[in-house]
Amino acid sequence: ATPTALMVGTGRGARMGVVVRGPEVLEQTRRADVVVLDKTGTVTTGRMSLRDVVPAAGEDAAAVLRTAGALEAASDHPVARAVAAAAADRGRLPDVTGFASLDGLGVEGDVEGRRVVVGRPRLLAGRGLALTPALEDALATAGADGRTVVAVGWDGAARGLLVVSDTVRPTSAEAVRRLRALGLRPVLVTGDHEAAARAVAAEVGVEEVVAGVLPAGKLDVVRRLQAEGHVVAVVGDGVNDAAALAQADLGIAMGTGTDVAVEASDLTLVRADLRSAADAVRLSRATLRTIR
Ligand code: ADP
Ligand code: MG
Repeated sequence: ATPTALMVGTGRGARMGVVVRGPEVLEQTRRADVVVLDKTGTVTTGRMSLRDVVPAAGEDAAAVLRTAGALEAASDHPVARAVAAAAADRGRLPDVTGFASLDGLGVEGDVEGRRVVVGRPRLLAGRGLALTPALEDALATAGADGRTVVAVGWDGAARGLLVVSDTVRPTSAEAVRRLRALGLRPVLVTGDHEAAARAVAAEVGVEEVVAGVLPAGKLDVVRRLQAEGHVVAVVGDGVNDAAALAQADLGIAMGTGTDVAVEASDLTLVRADLRSAADAVRLSRATLRTIR
């Protein structure tokens, strides 16, 4: 491969909205045969909105939202943005100290003298803030509808649930069709729960789903596929995708994603449109054909 021919290839990539880290990336792009897709912010817009607040018995929905919103204001996770925005719409939020973000799980911090946790129900259970049977029921109902549900807890009990929903990017189904047509097998991998993942997968035409994984679990999925002999592309946007993007044979970041995701990647999709990933594969194959 002559460097100049490859540079022409990368230049064309830039014009179609794909930033290529270097010419050597094109070879990996050409060889990829599995594409691991992150859900939130990659296949979906990641602009979530709050749908419902379910307080535990004896709790006030407004207080649950206000407390959770105060904490989530310090996080830039899509769930956090939705919760913080809805809470801020309803009034001034209390101050937070001792904030900590647990990637792929949730957040915690001190709000009005209480240690508050917001995140996956499993995270709360691990902190002794287990859901009541009534909240378990509400979780199952909202979850079956494909909603993302996070729990809020403090002082030894879960205090409520926050139900949020996301929107599939209008270009994602077309992108999956194109990736498949190029011989790439799509796999949706997400930290969200199974039903929410299945709902999005069905909407974009992906059958293989790995749900409920932690950031390290995403990395394991990539390693397992590589051990099976696959050349693995990963498309992601979040801090929680960085390890998987770095491990991938071809890491592809959404340009709208976090800096850590972009830094861990070989390609960046400027327009946050998954179809550009398919364009990049097509382009790299055409480029390598030209220079042989
Ligand atoms: P994805 O893999 O789809 O991008 P993440 O790994 O970022 O999702 O998050 C997985 C799950 O962890 C979310 O669906 C949510 O339940 C929980 N979570 C992560 N961060 C937060 C947060 N800041 N607030 C509440 N829940 C969170
Ligand atoms: Mg994401």
